[in-house]
Amino acid sequence: MFDPKQIILDKIKTNGGWVNTHAHLDRAYTVDEKLYKLANAYRHEKWKLNSGVRRNSTIAQIYDRMAKATELMIAQGVSAIGTFIDVDPDTKDKAIKAAQKLKDRYKSSITFKFINLPSYGILPKESRFWFEVGAEFADIIGSNMKTDQGREVEHLEIILQTAKDKKKMVHIHVDELNLPGEFETELLAKKTIEYKMEGKVVGIHGISINAHPKKYREELYKLMKKAKLMMIACPMSWINSRRSEEPSPIHNPSTPVDELLPYGILVALGTDNIADLMMPYNDGILWNDLRALMEMNRLYDIDELVKIATVNGREVLGIN
Ligand SMILES: [Zn+2]
Repeated sequence: MFDPKQIILDKIKTNGGWVNTHAHLDRAYTVDEKLYKLANAYRHEKWKLNSGVRRNSTIAQIYDRMAKATELMIAQGVSAIGTFIDVDPDTKDKAIKAAQKLKDRYKSSITFKFINLPSYGILPKESRFWFEVGAEFADIIGSNMKTDQGREVEHLEIILQTAKDKKKMVHIHVDELNLPGEFETELLAKKTIEYKMEGKVVGIHGISINAHPKKYREELYKLMKKAKLMMIACPMSWINSRRSEEPSPIHNPSTPVDELLPYGILVALGTDNIADLMMPYNDGILWNDLRALMEMNRLYDIDELVKIATVNGREVLGIN
């Protein structure tokens, strides 16, 4: 019997195993009855609603959550993981300490790349201090462009200059809201070229690219290619994208993988949030993400799918 799923799974194994390039392991399994009631809040509200988890978690609790998720990754054959850890005025260095302990415990079974998340931006003074602490510890400099909304240019310039000085890559959440008013991937590509960081910068999500007309998308892909921008798709994480009355081309809420690949733009896979306020039901099984990615993009090229799940992942994490 022709069993394409089994063929993909076998090929993933022979290509070195799954790579989960985007997660927030420090907040995995934090959904409780109280937070679950808030599951339908807007993402930007959830960001603040998570502050209790950030403030109140102990290093031991953060470690336990990360260890549980790491064991889930190892059990399904994940060879490397890129995970954000909160380093901000609420979390301070608790997640850094937990991450170091995690790496010491599991480094023989899985490769870790830690990425710092300045949850409340980097422009306020205290946030900036913790960004610097996080950037020093992290393997990859991370951020979310929305955390300094309205001052995205300043935000990006600090991120890119810091990464350049420290000779590190950048992972940044962009264009998440599936709305035609977002132009963050374009700004990221332009700034990447300006800072001569081509091939070192990775955008996460890029859902809103789909909400723009074809002509804009084609120009954007050319610019992304020039910037050697790479993209991470976390398909299960955005299938709950909101309804909107704003007119835009008909599309699925996904990173536009079907269009990025023909332009030679590298795409990798991630689970994003696991069993937390953002995604209470995300079970962190990478097959589910790859399945959603193929269906939402009608991408049935087995070898491309295997690359997205394996070698492309090592590329975006800077693992040679
Ligand atoms: Zn994320």
